[in-house]
Amino acid sequence: MADYIYSMETRLTPDQQSGVNLVQEIVRHAGLNLYLTGGTIRDLITGLPIRDVDLSIQGNPLKLQKELEKAGISIQGLEEDLKTLHLLMPGNVRAELNLTRSETYDKPGKPPIIASATINEDLRRRDFTVNAMALSLNPGSRGLLLDPFNGVADIEAKVLRVLHNYAFLEDPVRLIRATRLSARFHWPLEERTQARYDSAKENNYIEYVGKRAIGAELEQLAHEDDPINIMRALEKEGWLKVLHPHWSVAKAEASDLGQAIKLRQTLTDLGYSVESGPMAMYFLTRRMSDKDISEIQRMIPRRDFVEKWKHLEHDAQNLAKRLTGKEAATNSGSWKLLSEATPENVLFLSLTTRQQAVDSKLKNFLGKWRQVREKLPFPEMAEMRITAQLPEYQKILDAAFLMLLDGKLRSHNEIVNFLKPYEPPPPPPPPAPKRGRGKAAVAEAAAGAAAVAAAVAAKRGRKPKGAAVVAPMVAAVVPSTPAEAGKATASTKAPSSSKPAPEPKKTVPVKAAKKQNKPTKKAVVAKTKSAATKKATPTKKKTAAKKAPAKKTPAKKPAAKKAAKKKR
Ligand code: ATP
Ligand code: MG
Repeated sequence: MADYIYSMETRLTPDQQSGVNLVQEIVRHAGLNLYLTGGTIRDLITGLPIRDVDLSIQGNPLKLQKELEKAGISIQGLEEDLKTLHLLMPGNVRAELNLTRSETYDKPGKPPIIASATINEDLRRRDFTVNAMALSLNPGSRGLLLDPFNGVADIEAKVLRVLHNYAFLEDPVRLIRATRLSARFHWPLEERTQARYDSAKENNYIEYVGKRAIGAELEQLAHEDDPINIMRALEKEGWLKVLHPHWSVAKAEASDLGQAIKLRQTLTDLGYSVESGPMAMYFLTRRMSDKDISEIQRMIPRRDFVEKWKHLEHDAQNLAKRLTGKEAATNSGSWKLLSEATPENVLFLSLTTRQQAVDSKLKNFLGKWRQVREKLPFPEMAEMRITAQLPEYQKILDAAFLMLLDGKLRSHNEIVNFLKPYEPPPPPPPPAPKRGRGKAAVAEAAAGAAAVAAAVAAKRGRKPKGAAVVAPMVAAVVPSTPAEAGKATASTKAPSSSKPAPEPKKTVPVKAAKKQNKPTKKAVVAKTKSAATKKATPTKKKTAAKKAPAKKTPAKKPAAKKAAKKKR
């Protein structure tokens, strides 16, 4: 038996899955039953992309509005009589939450009588067998597929079949849906369904189509992956004129829409979630009169969708203005501005701008500037312990990235020097051996560290500076803002390059340390202080640093070499 929960978890996008989880929690808390229904189940089984999430509950979704909003779900429209909510969940996931209901049709063209019902009755009011399935998300029956009309078999046969002979008569918008879904999936209508369809067309049932149904279909067109193809099919069948009498494929800006779809993919690949429906509608109706466009806008039930469509041009103009203004005078300024803009705004402006300067900034934002991040020396940052474990890590990355964008860090050394002040203090050294090895062990540890340092420096093609390369800061300050970072760079530059070798915890007597030319803790502090307060005496320090490993007992050298080899 198929494991539909597994299918759901693997086929829904992570954002869709999180959205379902949010709703599930709220519905469970309200003590109601929840089902995944409609096209979501169809697409789950076919393996085709799941465009939106259809959910049904045995209860009134309108009562859950507050909880849904608290969970970060936006209510984009509601249908009071159908007890249906149109939702936009985090990550731009479109969803519909409706009451499981029965529909009784008294007269064709008249809206049905709606009543709260069980999930099985709800499936009976649906359009095609492939859309009349439900997956239980309830604790007792989770994973159970309800498929009273054998939709799975029709999915396998790749056909669209109505549930009964009066399907097109009761709700003529199903004629439009049949054409749309058939064009999308390239699935024909099952033979008898085709006969019913032809007869409904001949008898002009479509004149009874409800306004609300038209509004919903208008929006659905915008969410299609290839809306122009669907429009052609609708036009051929005469349904496009039903959606709006002045609409035709010729009224759409097909090439711009094609560009929009490509660019949306680029943005998706970069990790943005883009709600491109309103923009698709803009291009699909581009050559229609303002009057016709506002008529279409008035018919669409999801008001938020319409508002976004209406604001596209204005938002893009605003963004273009700011991109040519003071705040975007530098690359980093433009980057910040575009990062804060919505992906929809970036996408729409990219497609419509005629300003060269704006266009090149947008192109850089989506392309060239992103590669600048790759200049960050991640392996060295790891050695410096500037890793994701640092709470300030992202801030450090961003600060370095913005400076790179503005050409303020040009060479590898400049980047490393910028990063140095962020280097966190070293982890505490391992506990010293209890007995026996004493001084020898301490010296060995220091020699090992120095050798590793030398090896790392040599690998980078730089002159090894003794242990100073990996020497941890005595008291590292991790600035939390780029400004602080700047300060820190200036003030700690000198001490960091003249740092002594890492010091084992077990203190070496001052005399012995002097003998080895190895500074004690006290000496380290004194040296750092003198570097910060007095004028530094680099020659002396350098000699000291170089001398430290050289003066180690010669017997330890092979061990150090071994360590260096290992590292390589
Ligand atoms: P899509 O992939 O376009 O979302 P869909 O089949 O899910 O396809 P929706 O408009 O989201 O289409 O509708 C959700 C479900 O509601 C449908 O699968 C179907 O079960 C039911 N439905 C929608 N419109 C009708 C209708 N006119 N008559 C009967 N059932 C309908
Ligand atoms: Mg759907």
